[in-house]
Amino acid sequence: MKALDIIVCVKVVPKPEEVTVHAETRTLDRAQARSELNPPDMNAIELALALRERHGGTVSLLSMGPPFAAPYLEVGLAMGADRAYLLSDRLFGGADTLPTSFALAKGIEKIGEWDLVLCGEESSDGATGQVPAGIAEWLGCSQITYAMDLALLPDGRLRGEREIRGGHEVIAVPLPAVVSVKLGVNEPRFMDMERRRSPEPVTVWSAGNLGVDPAWLGFEGSPTVVGAVWQAKSPERQRRFLEGMPQEKARLLAEQIRAAVSPQ
Ligand SMILES: Cc1cc2nc3c(=O)[nH]c(=O)nc-3n(C[C@H](O)[C@H](O)[C@H](O)COP(=O)(O)OP(=O)(O)OC[C@H]3O[C@@H](n4cnc5c(N)ncnc54)[C@H](O)[C@@H]3O)c2cc1C
Repeated sequence: MKALDIIVCVKVVPKPEEVTVHAETRTLDRAQARSELNPPDMNAIELALALRERHGGTVSLLSMGPPFAAPYLEVGLAMGADRAYLLSDRLFGGADTLPTSFALAKGIEKIGEWDLVLCGEESSDGATGQVPAGIAEWLGCSQITYAMDLALLPDGRLRGEREIRGGHEVIAVPLPAVVSVKLGVNEPRFMDMERRRSPEPVTVWSAGNLGVDPAWLGFEGSPTVVGAVWQAKSPERQRRFLEGMPQEKARLLAEQIRAAVSPQ
């Protein structure tokens, strides 16, 4: 059976609980928040490494983001990925899902050899879930969305089990393919410098390296216009201390729960 060359698209996202919105520019104020690798992308990396263990081949990581994303890709390298690429240039900034998927597709073409692209099901900051389908369209290949598990069939097709409302669906597609992976389908392995295969640092490519018309990238290439943004306020937490012995506290608590849930 053929070895698999896999590219995993990973997005560096701000921790959701630390994000604020910039009312004037209508953008997320990422500078104020700490970052992490988008959680389902960690599941996609784990699935890619497990497929490499079964079939051989390579796992490359690809991200589009600011220069500070590079150390986060090192995390994926320390999980065992072979190579990592970062698309980073001011011209990529402010991209909606159309130029994001376009730039990633161009990055994939520049990496060259590949059979399978894995993405997370959605990002924790944009959360459209449109990027994987966009990449498949730009590359003109098969796609499976919301996959829970993947296996290579003896005839060379990719078998994907996907979650649908009320059940599971099993489908087979020819390679090459783009697959989005459900959050939590596996336990991502820890990073460990002994797992690192390549001493090479993350390769950084600018818009010029992709050789594309800048009008297709970033703000300029984005048809989405953000009308308004505002900061959602968390409700004030209410807390009451109950006095007395444990039995008395339990009785008071039960009374208060009954009062809260009983119809007025
Ligand atoms: C209404 C709205 C307004 C927005 N405004 C702005 C803005 O003003 N400025 C701004 O910078 N952003 C903005 N964004 C965010 C921007 O559109 C997204 O960050 C970007 O287009 C990717 O889309 P997503 O996060 O929804 O990805 P999804 O489609 O949810 O991501 C699915 C998967 O695709 C892959 N992926 C997605 N993005 C990347 C990436 N960059 N690198 C590698 N892999 C990736 C990952 O595997 C990810 O798990 C906005 C989003 C929305 C919905």
